[in-house]
Amino acid sequence: MDICVMTLGCKVNKYESDAIVYNLKLSGHNVFDTLSKADLYIINTCAVTSEAEKKSRQMIARCKKFNPNARVMVCGCASQHNPQSFKEKGVQFVGGVAKKMKIANNILSKAKKPAPVPLRYEDTMIAQASRTRAYIKIQDGCNNFCSYCLIPYLRGRSRSRGIVSIINEASQLPESIHEIVLTGINVTDYKIDGVPSLYKVIEELDKLGKRVRLSSLEESITNEDFVVGLSQLQNFCPHFHLSLQSGSDSVLKRMNRHYTSAEFESAVKLIRKYFPLASITTDVIVGFPGETDAEFEETKAFIEKVEFASLHIFQYSKREGTVASCMKDLAPEVKQKRFEVLNEMKKELNLKFIQKNKHGKVLVEEKQGEFYVGYTENYIKCYISSKVDLTNQIVDVKIKKPYMEGALCKIV
Ligand code: SF4
Repeated sequence: MDICVMTLGCKVNKYESDAIVYNLKLSGHNVFDTLSKADLYIINTCAVTSEAEKKSRQMIARCKKFNPNARVMVCGCASQHNPQSFKEKGVQFVGGVAKKMKIANNILSKAKKPAPVPLRYEDTMIAQASRTRAYIKIQDGCNNFCSYCLIPYLRGRSRSRGIVSIINEASQLPESIHEIVLTGINVTDYKIDGVPSLYKVIEELDKLGKRVRLSSLEESITNEDFVVGLSQLQNFCPHFHLSLQSGSDSVLKRMNRHYTSAEFESAVKLIRKYFPLASITTDVIVGFPGETDAEFEETKAFIEKVEFASLHIFQYSKREGTVASCMKDLAPEVKQKRFEVLNEMKKELNLKFIQKNKHGKVLVEEKQGEFYVGYTENYIKCYISSKVDLTNQIVDVKIKKPYMEGALCKIV
């Protein structure tokens, strides 16, 4: 059967879709992830914002355009949150979060309702790394209950994957994969027997000789032992995506984030003490309910002080069922204006960070136009001219000057 798997949302979704693809291929199906004609479409949905949920539903119609008679199965956060809205679009299977990993076995199922979220880590499938880098999921769910976020309700409480299973998956990666990215909903909360153990996983993976990169982290992970440990590893990539969300303490409180801006700043200082050229990036939400001009100014000032390498900026979007959904929303124009202000700051910060870097080791991913393109260990996107094919190689480069959203580089 020709099966098209479409993914919306985060790296965890991407990892889980890769696992679905891999398992369907093992069952002998022809599986692909670009939108084209298929007998069956599987849509892995996202509910992080109402816009993401809307796009997830719109994907059904986009798929049906290619084959109106095809069957459609949906899984993931948006279908867990609002199964009825997907059923109304005439899909044949609503898998939610719990049944996502079993979707390959459910191809013939007529199920129409998502199952409850599991309490333990479901270790039923692994993804096949198909590119230069492999995403490995080590954790699911979250206990933090930030006041704006639906994820703990949709994905359930935090649960960690066994370390043996993680190492097994990583050990089976082909030699052509040079980088492992650890993903999860909240990898900071990774535990073994109830004890925080993220460092242990990184240390074990480091021994495999492939680069190891982390996805999003909470500032609470950055104690001295953790950072010193990382600085002694051979293959760890100094790229820390620390979720800030706001630089204003009063907004952080309303968001139910459990740190102050001063604690966040200390975490950044600690990282820079051991990794002076670390790329420290972050997420910021603008226009959180009640965010005053003064609070927004605090966020701006904090971002300037910390000098992030880059920002992911989101406009607050109300999610029914969260604590923040009961707070008074700001006008869309205010959110848009604040988004634009931070977006300008982002460009400047990005430029400044690139200019601080003179050299890097780039894992080349692909050719884009006239350049080979890849990322340094500290996540600078590099554009390299070369007459020989550099795809999937790690090359030393001199960083010449900012270019597009990265830097123009020369092989040394
Ligand atoms: S840490 Fe907060 S924002 Fe992130 S998944 Fe958990 S509740 Fe949501």
